[in-house]
Formats: sequence, structure tokens, C-alpha cells
Amino acid sequence: MDATEVNDIVIVGGGLCGLATAVALHRKGIKSIVLERSETLRDTGGAIGTRSNAWRALDQLGVGSKLRPTAVRVLKNREISLDKGGSNEETSLANDETRCLKRSDLITTLADALPPGTIQFGRQVVSVKLDPSNSYPTVQLHDGSSIVAKILIGCDGAHSVVADFLELKPTKEFGLSVTRGLTHYSNGHSVPHEIVRVTKNDVVIGRAPIDDKSAYWFVAQPLTSEEHAKISQRPELIRESTLHAVEGFSTEFVQLIEDSELESLTLTHLRYRHPCDLLLGKFRKGTVTVAGDAMHVMGPFLGQGGAAGLEDAIVLARCLSQKFVSTVDRPITSESQTMTKVIMRGVEEAMDRYVKERRMRVVRLSTQSYLTGLLLAPSSRSVKSACNVSMAVLFRNPSNHSQYDCGVL
Ligand SMILES: Cc1cc2nc3c(=O)[nH]c(=O)nc-3n(C[C@H](O)[C@H](O)[C@H](O)COP(=O)(O)OP(=O)(O)OC[C@H]3O[C@@H](n4cnc5c(N)ncnc54)[C@H](O)[C@@H]3O)c2cc1C
Repeated sequence: MDATEVNDIVIVGGGLCGLATAVALHRKGIKSIVLERSETLRDTGGAIGTRSNAWRALDQLGVGSKLRPTAVRVLKNREISLDKGGSNEETSLANDETRCLKRSDLITTLADALPPGTIQFGRQVVSVKLDPSNSYPTVQLHDGSSIVAKILIGCDGAHSVVADFLELKPTKEFGLSVTRGLTHYSNGHSVPHEIVRVTKNDVVIGRAPIDDKSAYWFVAQPLTSEEHAKISQRPELIRESTLHAVEGFSTEFVQLIEDSELESLTLTHLRYRHPCDLLLGKFRKGTVTVAGDAMHVMGPFLGQGGAAGLEDAIVLARCLSQKFVSTVDRPITSESQTMTKVIMRGVEEAMDRYVKERRMRVVRLSTQSYLTGLLLAPSSRSVKSACNVSMAVLFRNPSNHSQYDCGVL
């Protein structure tokens, strides 16, 4: 690509949020390009839990009806605690639309909804600068080339280069690692249509069916970043460490892990952006902003991080579509330059509206997720009591987060 080429909208990162943002813009008639550092679509993590708020966003993106047939509806949530030698079980009916989608189905469906050529693979952004002459953001790529954008949206995940440009505080480690995997049963399985989570001695194992032949599972365990680094690139070591962590859990769970597909295993060291940093962070500089994990990476304890990224996509595209008009193809005259400046000021206002609309939503989600994580992670009795009190005061209905409606595109 020519270094002087000016693009209207450049999205950094072709994960869940980047693709959803490109689809949302496309549905509003706005062209964008997505720069993805991987050579192919990335569907790391096996599967993803999606509740009503995510389905509202997926319907707005026009992909809900394609995805529903790929995953059964979950009817129940079960939480089992085997701590202190006892067995404590809480069951609740899923009072909303809950399904566990294969990440490959979700990512492929979003990518298929984009015009050909939108996603550019093998393009890693290493830094972002503002062009002093016109204030347009310019991204530098790892191969030495650069691309000018009128609008830059960072959907580049927890280690975001665009978040660094916005001078957001670094994300923090949670001290927990999560193995995720898929298990396929060619003759079908008898896994109930429920999400079950079992906790014992700081280890949490979870399971959900995807369809009649495959199930998703995860195991969260305390690991230091050094321990994590030693095994995270070796699926056979991930399986070994995970089986070690679940010793003493019921055989149906151990078997699920033993039967899993080795290539589906991933180990993720959890990170989060502190709720205070979300409350106070400056999420726009010029016509640059962030969405998805780049803005609000959170622990997976509510299963809402990805859904929040889908909501970001809808809100951002809605706000931008009210202000943005492409001027890329117009001849450069003093009149068109003045018009471009006016449009860019409008874009800044649109981004401010987006940030305002999203801020309190993601502060609440990440606070609830943070407190839930502290209750699951090893911590003192006083910390756990403080978490319980805060949860009772702030989140009287702990499932309320899935009732959120991000509105129409
Ligand atoms: C264990 C676990 C379980 C989870 N479970 C759920 C769940 O059940 N439900 C839910 O809603 N959420 C869940 N989440 C959260 C969800 O996975 C994330 O919120 C979501 O994947 C974030 O999407 P994203 O597109 O913002 O970021 P990512 O998925 O991280 O995508 C970022 C993309 O940007 C690319 N990229 C990064 N840097 C650059 C660069 N410099 N240049 C170019 N490309 C770049 C990457 O290759 C990647 O493709 C879970 C998370 C974890 C860790």
C-alpha cells in the first residue's frame, strides 16, 4: 500500500470487536479497512458465552439469525462450591437468551458479512502518530510502511498500541490463568443444556454445550506469569497442567478435558483495566478512539467482555454515521479542505458521544467482573467480605448486565 494513501476509517485489529465495528459501519454505508497482524482469522479461545445483550447487538449486525442455529439454547446456570469439604449448589433458570458459540463460527460469520478486501492480514501496527500538518492519525506498520487515516479505531485487544497512543494506563494482571478447550463427540454427547461452574481450592472448572456434538470447557487456576509463559505455547503441557489442577474434581469433568481436541487448547493469563481507569481514562485524542478489550479488557467472570465489544461496535457506528461524510474522493480545493475540517470536528463530537454512552456501562461491567473475580481468586477473608458487601449493595440483581440494550444501529 502507498504510504501517502489516505483512508477514511482504519480499524486496528480483526478480532471480535474490530470485525463487528467494520460490519456495523458497513451496514451504515461507511467503508473501513481492518488491519490484522495475523495471517488468517483468529478464533482463539474455543467458544464464547453470549447472553441477551450480545444477541441484541448480533441482530443489529444482521448475523443473529445465521448464528442461532449453530448453538443450542442454555436453560440453566449451576454454581457448585466444593470448598471446605462440603458441597453447596445454587441453580438458576437462564431468564434470557444464553448460548455458547464456537468462536470460529462467530468470527467467520462477521468476516463473511464484510465486502471483500476489507480485512488486510499480516499487517501489524507498531505505533501511531498524528500528522502535524493536518492532525490525521498515521499508523506505522512492522514492515516499515505507514497508512494515513482520517479516523482510527483501536480494536487491538489487551495490549493495544492505540491505547498506548491515547496514554491510557497499562492493564493489570489478575494472577489467574484460564485454559479453554473444545471436546467433540462424533456420536453426540449427553451434556445438559446448562452452564455449570464448580469451584474447589481456588480452581474453577466450567462447562457448556455448544451443539449436540460439542462442548466447551474452561479451567481457571492461579498461575504466575512465569509459570504461564513456560507452558502457554505447548498444548500438551497446557493439558497436563490443567489435568493436574482438576485432580479431585468429578470424573465427568476430568474426562471432558482428557477427550478434548489438543489444537483447541489455549491458556490465557487474565488481565483487566482497573474500573477507576475506565472511569477517568481519556478515550479519544483527535479522531482516534478505542473499542473492545483495547478499551475495557476485563476478567471473564461475567462472560461479558466480548459482548461489551459488540455493544461498542453498534454505539460507535451509530454515533459516527450521524457525523461522518467521506471526502476522500473529492478534489482538494480550499472549499473541500474547510468542509473536511468541519466534518472532522463533527467526528470528534461523535466519538465523545460514543465514549460518554459507553463509559458507565463498561465501568459497571468491569467493577462487577472485578469483584466476582476477587471472590474466586485466592484472597483474605476480609477482602472476600468486603467484596460480598459491595456486590450486595451495587449489584442487587447480579444478572442485570444481560438486560442491557445497546439500541438500534
Ligand atoms: C478465559 C476467557 C473467557 C472469556 N469468556 C467470555 C464469554 O463467555 N463471553 C464474552 O462475551 N466474553 C468473554 N471473554 C472476553 C472476550 O474473549 C474478549 O472480550 C474479546 O475476545 C475481545 O475482543 P477484541 O476484538 O476486543 O480483542 P481480541 O479478541 O484480543 O482481538 C484483537 C485483535 O487485534 C489483533 N491485533 C493486536 N495487536 C495488533 C496490532 N498491533 N496490529 C494489528 N493487529 C493487532 C489481534 O491479532 C487480534 O486479532 C473471555 C475472555 C477470556 C480471557
